[in-house]
Amino acid sequence: MPELPEVETVRRGLEPVMAGRTILKAENRRSDLRFPFPDHFAERLTGARIERLDRRAKYLLFRLCSGETLLAHLGMSGRFTIHLDQNTEKPGDFAHAPGTSEKHDHVVFEMEGGAHIIFNDPRRFGFMTLFQTGNEEAVPFLAGLGPEPNANDFNGPFLRDQVKGKKTPLKAALLDQRLVAGLGNIYVCEALYHARLSPRRLAGTLGPQRAERLAQAVRQVIAAAIEAGGSSLRDFASAEGELGYFQHSFQVYGREGEPCLAPDCTGTVQRILQSGRSTFFCPTCQR
Ligand code: ZN
Repeated sequence: MPELPEVETVRRGLEPVMAGRTILKAENRRSDLRFPFPDHFAERLTGARIERLDRRAKYLLFRLCSGETLLAHLGMSGRFTIHLDQNTEKPGDFAHAPGTSEKHDHVVFEMEGGAHIIFNDPRRFGFMTLFQTGNEEAVPFLAGLGPEPNANDFNGPFLRDQVKGKKTPLKAALLDQRLVAGLGNIYVCEALYHARLSPRRLAGTLGPQRAERLAQAVRQVIAAAIEAGGSSLRDFASAEGELGYFQHSFQVYGREGEPCLAPDCTGTVQRILQSGRSTFFCPTCQR
């Protein structure tokens, strides 16, 4: 499932072929994904120029000259692919990444400049909607989101203030999108590992130093993953291909039973269930 760094990688991949360009033709091939498309979806996009591509948490925000914003969420399996005109045999003859099928191509944008942008989503947990730009607080997906991990206002004192008196485990606290926006299961595990804090520790027990350590770990883990995504983009060469899914090297996530990678630790990575989801951590060095 894509998390913030993957979505940011998608944004950076789409930007060169979409920002500043007009959508010559938009097409939704079914009436719904996770939610129904808004009324006249394709008509409202066709002919609109995309002024800017933003991201908030795990949402892509395409700012249109029409005064509307297209919000897109990748869900569990959604992916954007870019197909450049000169590389296709004939119009509509699109290459597909392994494991994806043309029948899951649900939305297609024909861009000024020749790129075709395809949204493919086999499980259809992704969605797209339109709202009036500037009206973010009225959009349920965006209202009440906490700061971005790399925002200046996400820091130790903020974190400590938000979790004061909380008896929820740190893992659950960091997954709460009101505390910090865009973190999911994978990067919460990684951040807690980098901060050497147990996912089971009660959030309210964070002192100033631990809170600062955790805020910095969150920023570092996210920044490193975005950097890794950027490298994967450069590998596309022609900026054509599937965006946002790249090879990661995780320190604890998915490494149950393997040795802890901290040089001063002889512990073993464990997996536990918290709120029904897997947590990976090293019980020896994460306290
Ligand atoms: Zn360890």
